[in-house]
Amino acid sequence: MKKIFCMIAMAATVLTAFTGCTETKKDDGKAKYIFLFIGDGMGASHVAVTESYLSYKAGKLGGEQLSFTKFPYYGNCTTHSANRMITCSSAAATAIACGIKTNNENIGVDAEGNPVSNIAEELHEMGYKVGIMTTVPINHATPAGFYAHNNSRYGYYDISCTIPETGFEFFGGSGFYNYRGSEGDKEPVDAYIESKGYEVCYGPEEFKAAADTAEHVVFIQESGRETDPEYYVSNGMETEDVRLAEMLGMSLDFLGDAEPFFIMCEGGNIDWSAHANKTMAVIDDILEFDEAIAKAVGFYNAHPDETLIIVTADHETGGVSIGEGKEWRTELVDWKLLEDHWIASGEKNVLSYEENMEMNRKALIGWTSSHHTGGPVPVYAIGKGAEKFSGRIDNAEIKGKILGE
Ligand SMILES: [Zn+2]
Repeated sequence: MKKIFCMIAMAATVLTAFTGCTETKKDDGKAKYIFLFIGDGMGASHVAVTESYLSYKAGKLGGEQLSFTKFPYYGNCTTHSANRMITCSSAAATAIACGIKTNNENIGVDAEGNPVSNIAEELHEMGYKVGIMTTVPINHATPAGFYAHNNSRYGYYDISCTIPETGFEFFGGSGFYNYRGSEGDKEPVDAYIESKGYEVCYGPEEFKAAADTAEHVVFIQESGRETDPEYYVSNGMETEDVRLAEMLGMSLDFLGDAEPFFIMCEGGNIDWSAHANKTMAVIDDILEFDEAIAKAVGFYNAHPDETLIIVTADHETGGVSIGEGKEWRTELVDWKLLEDHWIASGEKNVLSYEENMEMNRKALIGWTSSHHTGGPVPVYAIGKGAEKFSGRIDNAEIKGKILGE
């Protein structure tokens, strides 16, 4: 009897081993298609302010939602850097991309200045195609954290020159800071990048012409052609430029879905509008960011078992609030005041800082800072592995969670 039991057990072991061998591929926990959206400077209150405005537009006090606040998993993410309570975008991008805390102003290096590999490089090595894109210059801190290693986020020219070394398939942005170097005496950076085998395309027409044959592209907005882009551009001001959702669509067409991919897509101008405490510009930038996320949700709906979408921020900017000073009993934020000015000024919000703040106060939108603040930022997630992003997390944990570690 004992012998028979042993034989059955052995047969079961062999059978288990056999079925194990015939499995096509072991699930390593990673999603095949990974979207990481970073709203630069987008705290929970920026999201709340935007949804409050949408609710006002719908004739309600609240309840309207952006696409990503409907995601099933929600977390709170701490953001301090290695040497500051309040992080800058480069230390935060390094934390998210490389999984380590570093000093403010460092890009892709640890606090001692040693280069550290980032998630885009590691996934690319594993066979993922990579797309890195933003509404602001492609060599700005957040995108740079996903492809460059530099002791200074301000080494813009050198950062741009590392683009072709990555081998990543798609880059997109508004332009290159220091197009001819910080002194204006270097080879134009697009010529340098093209000399290393990448196509640099200005505007969607050039992109379409190159996309069929090119293997590596850098898409730059028409307004950023062969020049240093403006420091501050709210998207309403540049009507010829493609919106972020369209740039994401270009990258999806270019990368395809035959191979796995990792996309980092940044709403970079949210931070700039928030530094300027321009409430309607923040809302406009978040709505543009949300359009891009909605596009990724469309992709997720077609590939729900293989896709992960994460939406988070690198830090909060401006300390914005619904309510200002002692006026907490008020029934309504005066959205009409803010919106009327926004429309009348041609969506340029041309007021001086003081005039703008006076208008915010009248409308009962509070701002406590014109720089970054140290509070946690929200994380929204949907798809494969999304449950790991709920609860309290730190920005240096995001990389490991995406990699299924
Ligand atoms: Zn900032």
